Amino acid sequence: MNNQVKRFFAAFVLIAFLVLTTMSAPAWAAPAKNVILLMTDGTSSTHITLSRWYKGAPLALDDILVGGLRTYSADSLITDSAPAATAFATGFKSNSKFLGILPETTTTPGAPAISPNDQFKPVATVLEGAKLIGKSVGLVATSNIQHASPGGFSSHTPFRDRYPLIAKQQVYEDIDVVLSAGRQYMLPKALGGTRDDGINLIDVLKSHDYSVVNSRDEMLAFKGNKLWGLFAADAMQFEMDRKDLAPTEPSLAEMTRKAIDTLSQNEKGFFLFVEASKVDWAAHANDPVGVISDLLAYDDAVKVALDFAKMDGQTLVMAFADHGTGGISIGNKDFYKIYDKLPFEAVLGPLKKATYTGEGMDQVLGDNRSEFNIRLQMSQNYSIDDLTSDEITAIQKGPHKRAFAGVIGPMLSKRSAIGWIYTGHTGEDLFLYAYGPNKPTGLIQNTDIAKITAQSLGFDLAATDRQLFVDAAKAFAGIDALTRFDDSDPANPVLIVEKGILRASLPIDTNLMTVGKTTYRLPGITVQIAKTGKVYVPQKAVDLLKSNGW
Ligand SMILES: [Zn+2]
Repeated sequence: MNNQVKRFFAAFVLIAFLVLTTMSAPAWAAPAKNVILLMTDGTSSTHITLSRWYKGAPLALDDILVGGLRTYSADSLITDSAPAATAFATGFKSNSKFLGILPETTTTPGAPAISPNDQFKPVATVLEGAKLIGKSVGLVATSNIQHASPGGFSSHTPFRDRYPLIAKQQVYEDIDVVLSAGRQYMLPKALGGTRDDGINLIDVLKSHDYSVVNSRDEMLAFKGNKLWGLFAADAMQFEMDRKDLAPTEPSLAEMTRKAIDTLSQNEKGFFLFVEASKVDWAAHANDPVGVISDLLAYDDAVKVALDFAKMDGQTLVMAFADHGTGGISIGNKDFYKIYDKLPFEAVLGPLKKATYTGEGMDQVLGDNRSEFNIRLQMSQNYSIDDLTSDEITAIQKGPHKRAFAGVIGPMLSKRSAIGWIYTGHTGEDLFLYAYGPNKPTGLIQNTDIAKITAQSLGFDLAATDRQLFVDAAKAFAGIDALTRFDDSDPANPVLIVEKGILRASLPIDTNLMTVGKTTYRLPGITVQIAKTGKVYVPQKAVDLLKSNGW
């Protein structure tokens, strides 16, 4: 090639590059139209290894392993689920039990110091940010929907156990699709629920044009775009127990598919968070069968998300866990001298004979705890024929429901060379899985999940914070208005804003503001942080009063 041809060729390549990049990726385009986050609570690599051996084939997850995830919280090397969810949802590490708010204390090396003014401050979640730019948003979980992980994306409180409060905030977050459980926290005591404030949140949902469904069939038949599914009073059954003990409940994969089908009707795209909640509960109970049951159900849900993302081409999928639980090991102390001679059958044989999880066995045994029935059921459902008298007594005197797995789980673990450190969380790095545009690789922080999600969908979390959570006392003082509380109904306090004869009221934990005879639906909820008494409102509340002549 002579020099002239070379120059011409170089110029052609440059122009072609510029034309192609301008055409295919305008500077303003977000990398992804949709983001799906899938989380398995309390799952380290060994939980996954064991489940793969049990399945006897590769997992959907195996194809999309991209790196690792660091999990510590602002003040502990081992995180609680609430600050972990807060990190995934908001991009900030926080403290135990804190949902969607900044920490009170930071002690972990590298964790940024917290200024007294920012302690407990609500911060925007990626679900709220996605909603604000016109995307549809959804939550799917097998625990009650008010539980820590889905709660971290959809509520703001330092008390993760206050399910009635979290339920109310979630209802007024205007989430398009919720498929989960926890009906009792939505209903007043008079209707069999646990709410003290007399409010029927299911009626509120219906008045907001939601279809509220209670069974798999109702869910599958639904056509529309605003859907709440509440499939149990508290949590859903483990996948392994579902067919026999709760046939009206959908699987996690079915809920995920329905959520994607419904949310993807929005031309602007969607954000979806899916959680396999009970892998953690099984691991807390040291029940390997419960872990395998719901980890494989999770993998099926991951496959549903991946199938959609592969067809769609504009969807980022990220899958991860929040922490390890139990410190599970393949191999235990009884096998110290023969750990290098541990055949497949020694570990998986006993596990594959189980037909119910530990929690399921509590329901199978029912009230009949005679030695005869215990030996019969443990033989039929676990092929365990060598129960000791201590084990029989433990089953007879054991606690019920979720806690009963803590009786059965260790019996099965001992017989299958499975070890456990204890019944708490653990602090190791975890696997990170991702597929699609803008997918991360390498070792990242749990807080990076929020940052990558926001960046992929094309919004800024800090700007979303400034839109959704301004200090109410300061902001209303800025328009010469005063704030006070109406506590006449202590369970439902209302923020009152007054200027001369003008008056506005904002019920706490809702997105409502009433001025005169008009009630506005704000783009976010009003939150009062009990620990500081401070109230935070969306900037829109202040702007609306200004435009009303305040
Ligand atoms: Zn957790």
